[in-house]
Amino acid sequence: MAIRLHQLFDPASSTYTYCLVAGEQRAAVIIDPVAEQLERDLELLRSEKLSLRYVLETHTHADHVTSAGELSRITGALAAVPSQCEIAPAPVQLADRDALFFGGTQLVAIHTPGHTAGSMCFYWPDGAAVFTGDTLLIGGCGRTDFQSGSATALYDSITQRLFTLPEQTTVYPAHDYKGNHSSTIGQERSANPRLANKTREEFVVIMNNLNLPKPKLIDVAVPANRMLGDVQHSA
Ligand code: FE
Repeated sequence: MAIRLHQLFDPASSTYTYCLVAGEQRAAVIIDPVAEQLERDLELLRSEKLSLRYVLETHTHADHVTSAGELSRITGALAAVPSQCEIAPAPVQLADRDALFFGGTQLVAIHTPGHTAGSMCFYWPDGAAVFTGDTLLIGGCGRTDFQSGSATALYDSITQRLFTLPEQTTVYPAHDYKGNHSSTIGQERSANPRLANKTREEFVVIMNNLNLPKPKLIDVAVPANRMLGDVQHSA
């Protein structure tokens, strides 16, 4: 079966959006689209003659607004989100280990609480890839200090759910701030400075001492993303 992956980047938020393609009908799935990049993504669908089946969110983002609502309206694709992320308008509410089928292949939802309580990663066995959202980043991980975050939960999610995947599995994160594109489970397990050879207690100390500023867009992005990016205008 022919499969293909497009990795797209939004420089303003350093967000990676992924477009997965499979099968003769060119069935596609988009993960974590960014509102400002809607035209880019529609152009990709048109130029590659893709049939978009699902638009997925890994979690309720705090740093950018999604175009999931708009994309699904325009294309007829279904929005699929983690069931604990409070994104009520999405017709597909995913539970742990739910599979989404498209073009003869499947994506498997892995519930990975920690960055947020509802966060999920999406494992693509046929592509030997996992889309890790803000749960596992290249040489890092998502912050755990706001929006239902938990450092202990994140440690357990990464070490028990992600690091148990085959070590050659490619890791595709939702962000990278240093120009990296991908990693592997084996590389992160052996060299991620926050996690490699770290106990849960050591990890919690690291996470509690990051002293990060509040995301600039959080007060706008979180309510908008709970509506799939459809900002409500009141008169
Ligand atoms: Fe995030």
